[in-house]
Amino acid sequence: MAGIYIHIPFCKKKCIYCDFYSVGNKAEMVNAYLQALCHEAMLRKEGFDCDTIKTVYIGGGTPSLLTDVQLSQLVDGMMHIFDFSHVEEFTIEVNPDDITADIAMSYRQLGINRVSMGVQSFVDAELQFLRRRHDANTAANAYRTILECGINNVGIDLIYGIPGQTLQSWQNSLDVAMGLAPKHMSCYNLSYEEGTPLYRMLDKGGVQVADDDSCIAMYELMTGVLREHGYEHYEISNFAKPGYYSRHNSSYWDKTPYLGLGASAHSYIGGTRYYNPSDIKAYISQIGMGNVVATAEEETMNERYDEEVMLRLRTRRGLDADKLLDVYGEPYYSYFMSAVRQFVDSGLVEQAGSVFCLSGRGVMLSDMVFRELMYV
Ligand code: SF4
Repeated sequence: MAGIYIHIPFCKKKCIYCDFYSVGNKAEMVNAYLQALCHEAMLRKEGFDCDTIKTVYIGGGTPSLLTDVQLSQLVDGMMHIFDFSHVEEFTIEVNPDDITADIAMSYRQLGINRVSMGVQSFVDAELQFLRRRHDANTAANAYRTILECGINNVGIDLIYGIPGQTLQSWQNSLDVAMGLAPKHMSCYNLSYEEGTPLYRMLDKGGVQVADDDSCIAMYELMTGVLREHGYEHYEISNFAKPGYYSRHNSSYWDKTPYLGLGASAHSYIGGTRYYNPSDIKAYISQIGMGNVVATAEEETMNERYDEEVMLRLRTRRGLDADKLLDVYGEPYYSYFMSAVRQFVDSGLVEQAGSVFCLSGRGVMLSDMVFRELMYV
């Protein structure tokens, strides 16, 4: 099994908290970039197991900025290069204000069967603070439009811990989302990433960070509401109705191979991670000259162990220490078993035989747990 990730690094304008690689307002570069994506796919298809592609994910940036013609050229181009006949999950990320019945219908006609919609909040003041382009009504309407066009596997992303957000307004966002009944929910705690406008606001004292107690209360409210509505909490920030886990994202945590195409895209092939440069112009020009731009990352055994522990513990399936022993050997196994003991004793990690996973409280304190379990 393998996956393909295609990065569309364009946005109409940047949201204040976002540190994904994307640029605002560069419509004139889109066509050249789409051509480069197909060219990169040609250059890299050798050495990648193209026959078992089960998931395709078009992410960004804002893939919904592409017109139906541009998107269809991209998908057709990829289908000429790769065998999509075994694809089971084909996702596109969208922003609500781009969604019309025509564009949603074009997704369906192209074989896209899953939509991930960045809503972030159903409270207009919070959306304005985050500099999102849509309001709550637009988001709810976009959701219904996608459903009416025949794609029923739709996920909604929300953010909690927004300055000014209250437990009541968070409840309101969750209530509206539950009224729409998406198959998948991703809920993230707002983070302050260096280099973002939000970080600069924080630096200048222009923003009041939500305190830990409020974030914990919001987290507990969220897990309770989602559980009540039948969602399974399958990864730290991800919840799904039974049978609707994101297969593509799960493959990142399972270390399934995937080929990432586009500026800033990552790949994981044959046990090695590769990184494309975060520079659209350099990407287009290098690919145009026939150069593969992906750089392999040399990982030490310690780094591999750290990544394995963190990725496995993020998920509900957890980490099987016996497998850790098989793959990494005795010193790493012993280190893990001794480091994890304090968290089992304090109830942050649950143990069932050789399998360890974070408890509800452990998820809230996962950064601290991961730090302590790292080998490096
Ligand atoms: S639309 Fe998405 S990718 Fe673009 S700036 Fe906003 S959060 Fe970032």
